[in-house]
Amino acid sequence: MITHGKEIYKLQHRKVMEEKLGRKLTKEEIVHHKNGNKKDNNPKNLEIMTRAEHQRHHRPHLNYCKYFVQFNGETKSISQWCRELNLSYANVFNRINNCDWSVQKAFQKQ
Ligand SMILES: [Zn+2]
Repeated sequence: MITHGKEIYKLQHRKVMEEKLGRKLTKEEIVHHKNGNKKDNNPKNLEIMTRAEHQRHHRPHLNYCKYFVQFNGETKSISQWCRELNLSYANVFNRINNCDWSVQKAFQKQ
């Protein structure tokens, strides 16, 4: 086996996971390092996630800003809030998505 070259190094954890599962990984499956150490390719340190899950895992704040909002002491998804408050989803989403707006401000009637 060739052990030099970035590509081989990069694919190592995928290889380990494929061996663990006994099948090939799809393009949508991301191999995540549980302890954050990308050089630790011990099967116990590896976990499969979808692209979306992986993004959420590494950027929980962004995700929270984007989809779930606490308002009046309750946490609901933006779409739920919009239905209840009778607001335009696109408007509220854009307001909250940039995270500079307070939730109260974002939920004001336009
Ligand atoms: Zn990861």
